Amino acid sequence: MSQWITVLGATGSIGSSTLDVIRRHPTRYRVYALTGFSRIEKLVAAALEFSPRFIVVPDDSTAEQARDLLIQVPKNSQDFDCQVLVGEEALARVASDPDVDMVMASIVGAAGLLPTLAAAKAGKRVLLANKEALVMAGPLFMQAIRDNGAELLPIDSEHNAIFQSLPANYQGDFSQHGIEKILLTASGGPFRNKTKAELVDVTPAEAVAHPNWSMGAKISVDCATLMNKGLELIEACFLFNCRADQIQVVVHPQSVIHSMVQYNDGSVIAELGQPDMRTPIAYGMAWPERIDAGVKHLDLFEIAQLDFVAPDHETFPCLNLAKAAFKRGGISPAVLNAANEIAVAAFLSEQIGFLAIPMLIEKVMAVCPDKAVQSLEDVLAADQWAREQANRVLTDFKNSKQRVGLS
Ligand code: NAD
Ligand code: MG
Repeated sequence: MSQWITVLGATGSIGSSTLDVIRRHPTRYRVYALTGFSRIEKLVAAALEFSPRFIVVPDDSTAEQARDLLIQVPKNSQDFDCQVLVGEEALARVASDPDVDMVMASIVGAAGLLPTLAAAKAGKRVLLANKEALVMAGPLFMQAIRDNGAELLPIDSEHNAIFQSLPANYQGDFSQHGIEKILLTASGGPFRNKTKAELVDVTPAEAVAHPNWSMGAKISVDCATLMNKGLELIEACFLFNCRADQIQVVVHPQSVIHSMVQYNDGSVIAELGQPDMRTPIAYGMAWPERIDAGVKHLDLFEIAQLDFVAPDHETFPCLNLAKAAFKRGGISPAVLNAANEIAVAAFLSEQIGFLAIPMLIEKVMAVCPDKAVQSLEDVLAADQWAREQANRVLTDFKNSKQRVGLS
């Protein structure tokens, strides 16, 4: 029997890779819904290929555009009956409908939180690419997974590798299995080995040109600042129930080892592969089975060499900013995430320089109150507050040297 999947963020990089895995297994998986925020032609093209029951777009004007494009459906395709839904509530609906078996959570940023949480609350298999949702609301999200019998499969390549390298019966207790630490690998991004002086005037185009992976613009900038590794450290702490000091970040420029787990008998277990997200996507979709992902096999002779170095915290302060936010707990990770989203958008639209990204986040974190998270409302309020603070700092930056990250 086919399994029904909803792909949130179907027009993005992870969304497209997910559709490619589905394309290879047309009887095993059927598409229930596809969602997109922009590039409506791409969303409709995917709908024409995969015949979902629903597509979800952000507003009435994109809905009209989508309906106009859908009229091109060949009249002889009897199966095709795709409705266009609009807005955030529709995202939550297609993530939680009783007919849905699994949800690919691949919307970028805080916008993915509510539908991803809706999938968890509805007890779905949640394929989690949207790390920002977990960073913002980690304890609430993990509780929703446990309380509703949902399955959480990490899609982020590092966390997928850690999941594969942990014991199959791991329940969140390192000591029970003699686990000493997680070795979280980082490519170092496009600016590895650059000095601060060289980073003053790097452009958005240079920042999004990742050496190993092809990804959306926001995560590509996060890789360049090392904030991606910071968000991933927080993600790993929530997913695997460990402390920040039980995770060691290892810069490994080839991105062949996707992360490792070190045990107290001296063993280190790793998952290796191509830098191709279809591997963790297929793993999450088929788990505990394995299916063809369309990924070229690894040729170790071609790779020949694997390197490992420590991260440069001086030049790339975002990793430590994230670690500090996790240690503070409460609303801090949500505030860090929101400040980062504003800073990255400002860098991509050339309002601030690359080095101003960590500076802006640091200024917001400096005024962040210590506040516990009791409910989703607390998380959403913290996100909103942090965006306002970040925009205020941005305005202060505009007419000063801080705009390029010089204090
Ligand atoms: P992307 O920018 O390519 O795609 C983002 C998707 O989200 C698009 O479909 C877009 O339409 C949708 N979206 C954007 N804003 C939205 C909004 N306000 N409301 C609803 N939908 C919205 O991003 P991506 O690279 O595919 O990354 C998606 C997520 O997966 C991110 O959280 C990222 O950190 C994570 N991730 C990506 C990769 C990768 O290789 N690309 C790897 C690991 C984790
Ligand atoms: Mg990753």
